[in-house]
Amino acid sequence: MSNFEYASAPESKAIANISDSYGLFIGGKFVDPRKGKSFETINPATEEVLSKIGYADKLDIDLAVKSARSAFTKVWSKTPAKERGKYLYRIARILQVRAREFAVVETLDNGKPIRESRDTDIPLAAAHFFYHAGWADKLEYAGFGNKPKPVGVVGQIIPWNFPLLMLAWKIAPALAAGNTVVLKPAETTPLTALLFAQVCQQAGLPDGVVNIVTGDGITGAALVNHPDINKIAFTGSTEVGKAIARSISATNKSATLELGGKAANLIFEDAAIDEAVEGIVNGIFFNQGHVCCAGSRLLVQENVADEILEKLKARMSLIRIGDPMDKNTDLGAINSKEQLKRIHEISKSGDAEGANRWSPECKLPSKGYWYPPTIFTGVSQSHRIAREEIFGPVLSVLTFRTPAEGIEKANNTMYGLSAGIWSDKGAKVLWAAKQLKAGVIWSNTFNKFDPASPFGGYKESGWGREGGRHGLSGYLKSDVKASK
Ligand code: ADP
Repeated sequence: MSNFEYASAPESKAIANISDSYGLFIGGKFVDPRKGKSFETINPATEEVLSKIGYADKLDIDLAVKSARSAFTKVWSKTPAKERGKYLYRIARILQVRAREFAVVETLDNGKPIRESRDTDIPLAAAHFFYHAGWADKLEYAGFGNKPKPVGVVGQIIPWNFPLLMLAWKIAPALAAGNTVVLKPAETTPLTALLFAQVCQQAGLPDGVVNIVTGDGITGAALVNHPDINKIAFTGSTEVGKAIARSISATNKSATLELGGKAANLIFEDAAIDEAVEGIVNGIFFNQGHVCCAGSRLLVQENVADEILEKLKARMSLIRIGDPMDKNTDLGAINSKEQLKRIHEISKSGDAEGANRWSPECKLPSKGYWYPPTIFTGVSQSHRIAREEIFGPVLSVLTFRTPAEGIEKANNTMYGLSAGIWSDKGAKVLWAAKQLKAGVIWSNTFNKFDPASPFGGYKESGWGREGGRHGLSGYLKSDVKASK
């Protein structure tokens, strides 16, 4: 233990004001699901029920899509681009004004540390709306051809790791381009999307432009299969992404899919070691490792591996795990019982296949879902922990001798979402970046996001890009596509 400990600094829940129950947001109003079914959303750090959420089935999806179609035809497609921009700007401002409330609700529903929801999720979500507000009336001048048109009604399905941020990644470009949307949040984290529905009302957004339907995978599949959807935008697992691709293959629906990853974080011998150690920690322990672009495969050049591991272990011993509402907490709760089970299952395969597990000594809370920060050394490329996405605070460490071997190992994966390079030599960074098959490559940093920067993957990490000018192209009908 260190010589001193921080006193606890809990954020107050008072601002959260969570209702006992929520309906579906269709046509600008909260309505009860047709069959009156509901499910509970809980706080994964305490297992307390936060609210009862309406469960949307096929009938409700049909109503939501009809409402989006009618808003598209009658209102939104006729709204001048400049006016669309004003709505987006207004939404961004309201998100800023209500930022603290959103951060608290996100942390309660998701389990992530308040420091991260407050400093990353919510500000970035607002930034996405600001950024796309600027695009709304400039689409004609951006190389999308003469008068690019919206695709129409978009079905959007998002995961639970960055609930409001993923909503912003989806809704902001869709609306800027003139589409209307039906969005389904993940079943374990619906609350900030429902709070966002209130923001749409507050901003005076025309009814039906944004519809929010809550439910599980069956609800998501009903949205994907609705005949009047023009495009699906999905972020989630590769398995579900493939199922979506199959089910729309014989239709005119287009899709963007942002799927899994198993990013290599490459540390070359000439890297600034202390900075690299911080980058490793950020790369895998940010958001409990519930990050599709997490640096979950550490590739270290062999001659600096011992030094890196020693410093990494010392740094990991300082990670504070516990109450996500405490402003000092670094590592919060695992989002659900199912996810915790999955992390245990894959990690045990690491033990069984002969890798060596290490975690710092830490006391996990007795209630809720928790997993300690963990590294595996002695990992070989064939181990499941080196190949499969764990989506938890678990790092697999591999080594390489030459830069060429490092690149070969980094690319030896079915994924290609992101990668990190740590080196003091600019020429080596550029050389490595060129060899790596990953959509996003960070150099001497990790997990940096910006609305202007396109995000997306190679291989089984997905189709298309989100963010920047490239992201807009997926929401427009145009003969000219943004260059990759
Ligand atoms: P994760 O592994 O992150 O939970 P999933 O791909 O299972 O990822 O879930 C991401 C989102 O996709 C969630 O909103 C979930 O409800 C939804 N979903 C799950 N199964 C399907 C499906 N078959 N069709 C459409 N959406 C689905």
